[in-house]
Parts: sequence; structure tokens; C-alpha cells
Amino acid sequence: GETVTVQELAEKLKKTAAEVIKKLLGLGTLATINQEVDYDTATLIAGEFGIETELKVAVDKEAIIMAEPEDDLDQMITRPPVVTIMGHVDHGKTSLLDAIREANVTAGEAGGITQHIGAYQIEHNGKKITFVDTPGHAAFTAMRARGAQITDIAILVVAADDGVMPQTVEAINHAKAANVPIIVAINKMDKPAANPDKVKQELTQHELVVEDWGGDVIAVPVSAKARIGLENLLEMILLVAEVHELKANPDRPARGTVVEAELDKGRGPVATVLVQNGTLHIGDTIVVGHVMGRVRAMIDDKGRRVKKALPCTPVEILGLSDVPEAGDILVAVEDEKLARDVAEKRQQRKKEEALKSNNKISLDDLFKHI
Ligand code: GDP
Ligand code: MG
Repeated sequence: GETVTVQELAEKLKKTAAEVIKKLLGLGTLATINQEVDYDTATLIAGEFGIETELKVAVDKEAIIMAEPEDDLDQMITRPPVVTIMGHVDHGKTSLLDAIREANVTAGEAGGITQHIGAYQIEHNGKKITFVDTPGHAAFTAMRARGAQITDIAILVVAADDGVMPQTVEAINHAKAANVPIIVAINKMDKPAANPDKVKQELTQHELVVEDWGGDVIAVPVSAKARIGLENLLEMILLVAEVHELKANPDRPARGTVVEAELDKGRGPVATVLVQNGTLHIGDTIVVGHVMGRVRAMIDDKGRRVKKALPCTPVEILGLSDVPEAGDILVAVEDEKLARDVAEKRQQRKKEEALKSNNKISLDDLFKHI
């Protein structure tokens, strides 16, 4: 079900965690600051503080479409890891993404790289890896702020000639806050000034101790430019993915996150979506943030039209009524009326929020990050 931590609830209610804990105690629940409380309890607590949960009806409908079904373990399959590249500016994030992509264009993909849709998938030793192509902590932070968790593994790129820099530290903090495992790619190893030991030394100051120094952080020396170490990096990604036993259920309605979205002159609203669970099909009714739609066409990262998108596949989708925002959650909904109601309610709320500076708490705010 849907939950919120005591800390988050307190923040939303503009109360201290202690006050919330006290109210919980009054309800007979002994809770800690990081404890998760469910929707009903959160509503009760809000009521205890005299805060009206006026959007209850709308939220209930949202709760229905946002509810995660119990997955049958038999239906679960191993899914590809979703990888995000982070690091200081100019340390080689884009170069590394391009190098990996180019090195993995298969013979069948005539014309090579045809599309840049914000995410791409490669295959290494018969196993798939999905890379989110919007590097940088800004995108990462925006998504997290919206409650979207799309990354399984963060690749921290550190230039071997430059070492740990301010944005490297920021990236480390973001990955840690999101509880995402980090693999360090020590880049620019082709440079004469490359000093990987200095990088490793600096990383220890941020509690990242690499394996050859007795820690558990994997560090891979690479050169995006000279194409060195890329295979090794991919192998390490697959290794970490295996340890984390990433699963998804392809036999359920799709759920995913918008990576990018724009209004295309010819095609209308276009969103690149990473399908994270379930399978998205042509014809599916979807709600994406405040936008409703019906999947009219899907285009994969190789520019091919596809009829369905399995878990961890990035696809461009056409058929939305408006442009959603990066970080918006996509859900496929069987009940079209329900989908429309929720989208309309969200649109209305969006308008209202834009009109007034909103001090009132909505349950939507409360549960946005779920
Ligand atoms: P980003 O800002 O992290 O995306 O960095 P870029 O990929 O744009 O790279 C910044 C600069 O470093 C560019 O001039 C790249 O050509 C260069 N660069 C990236 N990777 C390497 C590398 O492995 N070796 C060398 N020598 N230069 C690199
Ligand atoms: Mg870049």
C-alpha cells in the first residue's frame, strides 16, 4: 500500500517529527522518525492537527490508479538494470555514454545511431543494460523531487587528471540519499596526467573506499576517448545488477517514468518514458502526471516502431493530450473514465496551484513521492 515516513509526514504538515510521533502515540502507535505510516493513519494524523484533507475523493481515485498490485512471484522476470551517469562537468559523462552506445551498435542496426530519445538500451554478453541519457544531478534531483526513482546503479565519472570536484561530491550525496549503489568510472586514463590513486584517495574522504583499498566500492579505470575499459565497466554493472536481483512483472499494466517530454511540431506531445514494470502496449490508456492519453505509437531508441515495451525499455510515446513533465509517473489504466477523472483532477489542481500560492496541504502533496 501507500506509505509515508513520519519525517516526511511532519514536513508536509509543517509540524515537528516529535509532534507527529506524539499524535501517533495518542493513537496507540509507537513510531520512530523513519517509520512508514499508511495512508489512513496519515489522514488521521492530519485530522488530529485540524488539517482538512479536502481532496480525499480525488486522492482515492488516484490511490486506485497508483496502487501497486501484488506481484505473483511466478510472473517475475529478471529485468535489466537502469543506469545513470553522474559526475563533475567535463569529466566525460557524455563521452562515456556515447562511447558505450557506439561500441554496442549491432550490425543489424543499419545507419548506426539514429535516435536520441533520452535513454537507450544496449546488450552486453546477451544481457541488457538501460542507460538514462540525461546525465547530471539536476535531472536526477528533479526526478527524485517528484518521487521518481528510476536508477538502479549510478556510475560516478571522475576524471583521473582532475580528481574529486564539487559536483562529484554532490553526485555522491545524491546517490547515497537515493540509496543507489555507486560504481566509480575513473575516466581519462589515456591522459599522461592521469592519477587514479589520487582519485581513490580523495574518494575515501567521502566514504567511498574502493575494493583494492579494502573497501567495497567498485572502481573501473576507463577512457571514453581511447575506448579503454568499457567492457569491464559493463561487466561490473551486470555484476552489481545480479547482486541486487532486479525483477519486474511483464504481465501487468505498465508503470514508468517520463525521462523527457516535448511538444513536437509534427507529432504533437512526445514523451520518452522508461517503462519500469509491466508491459506498455499500443492502444493502452495511460495517465502521465496530469496528462491522459492513449498510446498511438511507440518508437524505441533505435528509431524503430514497436508494438510493446517491456520492463526497463525506454520508448518514445505518441498519443498524449498534453506535454507531461520529466519525472512524471506513467500508469496504464484499464478504466478509461477513471483515467480521465484523475487526469482532470490533476489538471485542475495544477491550475489552482499556479493561481494561488498554496499553503494548504493536499494529500496529493503528501503522497507525491511514493
Ligand atoms: P561531461 O561534461 O561530463 O559530459 O564531459 P564530456 O563528455 O563533454 O567531456 C568533456 C571533455 O573531456 C571533452 O572535451 C571530451 O572530449 C574530453 N574527454 C572525455 N573523455 C575523455 C577521455 O577518456 N580522455 C580524454 N583525453 N578526454 C576525454
Ligand atoms: Mg555532458
